Amino acid sequence: NREIHLASRPEGWPTEDTFRLVETDVPTPGPGQIVVRNQFMSVDPYMRGRMNDVKSYVPPFALDAPLDGAAIGEVVASESADVAVGDTVLHGLGWREYALLDAGAARQVDPALAPASAYLSVLGMPGLTAYAGLLEVAAMKPGETVFVSAAAGSVGSLVGQIAKLKGAGRVIGSAGSAAKVERLRALGFDAAFDYHDGPVRDSLRAAAPDGVDVYFDNVGGDHLEAAISAMNLHGRAAICGMIAQYNDTEPPAAPRNLSLVIGKRLTLRGFLVRDHNHLRDAFVRDVAGWLREGTLSYDETVVDGIENAPAAFLGLLRGENLGKMLVRL
Ligand code: NDP
Repeated sequence: NREIHLASRPEGWPTEDTFRLVETDVPTPGPGQIVVRNQFMSVDPYMRGRMNDVKSYVPPFALDAPLDGAAIGEVVASESADVAVGDTVLHGLGWREYALLDAGAARQVDPALAPASAYLSVLGMPGLTAYAGLLEVAAMKPGETVFVSAAAGSVGSLVGQIAKLKGAGRVIGSAGSAAKVERLRALGFDAAFDYHDGPVRDSLRAAAPDGVDVYFDNVGGDHLEAAISAMNLHGRAAICGMIAQYNDTEPPAAPRNLSLVIGKRLTLRGFLVRDHNHLRDAFVRDVAGWLREGTLSYDETVVDGIENAPAAFLGLLRGENLGKMLVRL
């Protein structure tokens, strides 16, 4: 069994030296426990925050211990009556090839319904984040103009497509390369721009001449500031993430135009996906239906091998992914 440990806490950008590959024995289950051979693990932006030794909404990773996070795999040993060898389960002990856990901490999924990786992407946490943030937190209504940042990523690409499927009037996305912008147009975004091509404020103005009603923020910084400037009266922003500042050592000054929220009566609302599990049934019904009829697409960027998990995580922070960044073990 190989697993990835946190070797040091990064100051600013993490590097390969932040991680250590460690070999251990394959665990054996005790009473009520199972052992899972992980097939896919997720790398997610929030993991960067957990590398800092600060109090947050999830506890920090421990030094010289394995990292963790969402994973899916096949049960290879079981001392539980509820879970059988051969079952496919979703759980929270990624960053290792074999996971030992209490049977109650694993959720059985049907591998015949969708590919295993989809439970970590479109049908999993990122999908629910997009769905809940857009429809409940920002309460998007048909006909509205929606802007989403990091739009070619896992959450963002679903936000834009779900907005169109739920009747948005105009959907605009920003992303970090020409190839990503092209992909957004193919996914049905009405407009898309590369945020490197000029100030976000100018690109957004050009893409949304009649303003923005809903902003789904994955980036913060210049994107949030531009969105506040472009938002219409009673506009709503779902504040999902601020990846532009996860590696900053100093807090950013932006948005400098925050006072606009008063006159425009804007709502900026932060949220965590874990508070929206009550939407899970509606989410699965909608998304499974769209996948079946072929109206929703999802991209995955798959990196092979546990030894390449650190590179996959660093690549995610640098924008090397189209859609969900995953590691196949
Ligand atoms: P993505 O698949 O979107 O990957 C991250 C992307 O961020 C990269 O591909 C990169 O794309 C972009 N990015 C990196 N740095 C910058 C920058 N400085 N400015 C603009 N874009 C940048 O990740 P996820 O879909 O998993 O997550 C998206 C956001 O949602 C994150 O902020 C994450 O923390 C948040 N999140 C929040 C949740 C919640 O419960 N609140 C749950 C899940 C995710 P590019 O090439 O376009 O730069």
